[in-house]
Amino acid sequence: MIRALVWCENIQNKTQEDVISVYPDGMHNTIADFLNADPNITAKTATLDDPDCGVNDETLADIDVVLWWGHIGHDKVPDCAVEMLYERVVRKGMGLICLHSAHFAKIFKRLMGTSCGLSIPAPGHAPQKLWTLLPGHPIAAGIPNPVDIEIEETYSEYFDIPQPDELVFNAAFGNCASFRAGAAYHRGRGKVFYFQPGHETYPVYHKKEIQDIILNSVYWANNKTRGQ
Ligand code: ZN
Repeated sequence: MIRALVWCENIQNKTQEDVISVYPDGMHNTIADFLNADPNITAKTATLDDPDCGVNDETLADIDVVLWWGHIGHDKVPDCAVEMLYERVVRKGMGLICLHSAHFAKIFKRLMGTSCGLSIPAPGHAPQKLWTLLPGHPIAAGIPNPVDIEIEETYSEYFDIPQPDELVFNAAFGNCASFRAGAAYHRGRGKVFYFQPGHETYPVYHKKEIQDIILNSVYWANNKTRGQ
């Protein structure tokens, strides 16, 4: 059994109608629900509203992988929580999946050591094609190439990350933006995967192909193979 913790800042989920309409139960619950639909995964959730922003020895006890979505609340995560996550990834081998605007999460920047900045060319949103670059990679297993996303925020290069250990996906957008959308890293004993799709006002996490990629990444981060 893989034990997952889905962390979401849970700010826009409560205040923005255009987010609530897409994720009425909150993005963290949407993600936890499709993880929990897998008989080999048990997923719980945590948010900024929880004690210690949901990151402490109790909430992380026995957790194999954390999925992290943050956007406007990165600075609300205390540095001690970031160090706790960092230690668990690097020293204990906990997996970390950073989703979309978590490119600017403190824990992702800590693990990357770079600014993790990117550009968002106008008009800021467009249809997306998610191209598989490593068809033999476990995270790409069973994923159609490309995955068509009807509308998504247009993240583009230059994305200030270290050279990925494994670049699994690249995104191409209708406005010609291009972005390293699925980047895998090894950090100490742990595995880290950055995955770009998942803007809060678009129903990306309701798409089966995106759910399958995230499920694959959870298995990969735990050195397990999905479907076996
Ligand atoms: Zn976004």
